[in-house]
Amino acid sequence: MRAPFLIPLPLPHIGSVNAWLLRGDPLTLIDTGPCDDEAMSALEVGLRAAGHRVEDIELVLITHHHLDHSGLAATIAARSGGRIAAYGPAAAYGRDYDARNEADRRFSLALMRHHGVSDEVLADTEVFWNFIRDKSQPYDADIELADGESIRAGGRDLRVVARPGHSTTDALLVDERERIAFVGDHLLAKISSNTEVYPALEPNGTRPRARVEYLESLRQTAAMPLIRLHTGHGEDITAHAELVRRRLADHERRCERIVEAMHEGRTNAFEIACGLWPAKTVFDQTLLVVWEVLGHLDLLLDAGRVEETVTDDGSRYGLASFALAGTTTHAP
Ligand SMILES: [Zn+2]
Repeated sequence: MRAPFLIPLPLPHIGSVNAWLLRGDPLTLIDTGPCDDEAMSALEVGLRAAGHRVEDIELVLITHHHLDHSGLAATIAARSGGRIAAYGPAAAYGRDYDARNEADRRFSLALMRHHGVSDEVLADTEVFWNFIRDKSQPYDADIELADGESIRAGGRDLRVVARPGHSTTDALLVDERERIAFVGDHLLAKISSNTEVYPALEPNGTRPRARVEYLESLRQTAAMPLIRLHTGHGEDITAHAELVRRRLADHERRCERIVEAMHEGRTNAFEIACGLWPAKTVFDQTLLVVWEVLGHLDLLLDAGRVEETVTDDGSRYGLASFALAGTTTHAP
């Protein structure tokens, strides 16, 4: 079996994103890069180095809906006549990309306001949503895969394994015979994956606690007998269970820092973020840092260490009374 062929594609602001070519039947590309000319040129160059052209691609598989992983899917499929396959939720997002992204934007505005971000700071976050709009493209998956289902791709059987958390649509693509997996941004070698805070999927539902879901997903991945994980950014992971242990420990430490910030009198997510990061980071990456704090507050809520009071003016957080009394309960 020929090893997956890495094609790194340029990604503005972030650096690069990995596309993986599986040289077998059907010729398969996993993840696509953003929808722009630079990524398409780099893809053409990378494919040429492997002895192929865009027109040869028979199957495009995506790990999750984010623009850097799905942006060129529709363009590639249109040029090659190949098919697009995705895990069900990623397929659903792709069909309705612009409306879903707009709904996420509106939800995020309300969420950020509710958690203490001023309108002035929020105005600057429009850059983030405009970037997504500019670099993404809707895609219509020909094959919609269920959790646990297998698909023939590049001479292998890849099993779809749902791993929500980083996004609602994350799935691993696992070659059980070779014990390798394509993991997108579920787990990255050098940086901790973020978890977006997204709307409830059912009308009037409560928003999912993405970070709680994510840590459960990580634990499930750690238990898998894999020897190599091909990631969406940066290098491969070869000792994934150890890396998951380190990531879980990082979460415990960050939870403790949030508890310290609350002891200093910070009571909403934005105030806590201002206690954890330099002002420049908070103002340049407001969505990411507030998502990060909310994710960890969800872990602390889940562990019973923090209480949330919701009013029309937003949410305020306080330490749960038993936690103040010195009971030690560790966040998951
Ligand atoms: Zn990514």
